Amino acid sequence: MALEKVRDLLCAAQKANTSVIAFDACDYNTIYACIKGAEVARRPVIVMLYPTMRSVFSFGAFAATVKDLAKSASVPVGLHLDHCSELPIIIEAIRDGFTSVMADGSAMPLEENIAFTKSVVDIAKIFDVDVEGEIGHVGQVAGGFDYQNADTFTRPDEAAVFAGRTGVASMAVAFGSCHGMYKAEPNLDLERLQEIDKAVDVPLVLHGGSGIPADQLEKAFQMGINKFNVGTEFFLLNTKLCKEAYTSEELLKNPFAGITSIRKGLTEYIAKKLELCEMKV
Ligand SMILES: [Zn+2]
Repeated sequence: MALEKVRDLLCAAQKANTSVIAFDACDYNTIYACIKGAEVARRPVIVMLYPTMRSVFSFGAFAATVKDLAKSASVPVGLHLDHCSELPIIIEAIRDGFTSVMADGSAMPLEENIAFTKSVVDIAKIFDVDVEGEIGHVGQVAGGFDYQNADTFTRPDEAAVFAGRTGVASMAVAFGSCHGMYKAEPNLDLERLQEIDKAVDVPLVLHGGSGIPADQLEKAFQMGINKFNVGTEFFLLNTKLCKEAYTSEELLKNPFAGITSIRKGLTEYIAKKLELCEMKV
C-alpha cells in the first residue's frame, strides 16, 4: 500500500486509545526491519530519520526507500523527519519527499517556539505535510538532563496555547522521559499527562522511549499518548547485531551472511516492541 499519512495514523490511534510506534532508522536494514517487523506484528509503523543522518543517507534516498518498501507492505507505514529546529533543513526534507516533519523549538522560549513552529506549519500545509511540535522539553540523558524535575515538564496551559496558535498535527510533551538510555528507571508523571491531554485535542507524542517499563507505557498510551518514539534501544541493538555478524568467520566464505542475521534480529525486536500498540491491522 502507499505511504500512510502520519496524521491519519495518529488519529486512528487516538480513537483506539493507544499509540502508534515510531522508530528511528539509519540504513536499509533498519528501515527494512521496521516494515517487516510491522507485518509480523500486524501493526502500523512510522519510520523516522534524524536530520543529521542525511550525511550518510540522503533525505531523497531515505524517503524513496521507505516509500518503495511501503508499497509492497501489508500494513500501514508512515514516514517522518525526527527532531529538526532549522527551517531550511525541514524544507529540504519536504522537497525530497518527507510527508511528516518535527519542528522542534522546545529549547526556545515559548513565544519563539510558537513563531518557529507556526512558520513550519504554514509552509508544510502547502505541501500537505504534517507537523509535530514540542512543548516543554525532553532532554538528553548524556547531556545530564534532569528528567525527574517537574519544572521541566510540559505545562497544560502552555500546551493549550501552543496547540491553538501553531496548528500542529501532534505535539511532543515532557512528563518524565528523556532521550538516550536511562541511568535510573524513569517514573512517568501520568497525572501530568492526563492534565495535558484534557487541555488539548491534538495527539500527544512520547519521546525518549528506550528503557521505559512496559506497564508505564501501557498506561501512558491509554492516557493520551498516540505516538511513541524509539531510537537509542533500536540503534544499540543494530550495533550489537552488526558486531556479531561482521566478526564471524563465516563471512570469509559468504560475505553476505551478515545481512540476513542482522535483519532477522532487528525484525524480531520490532515485532515484539510493536505488541505494545493495541491497534491490530
Ligand atoms: Zn525525540
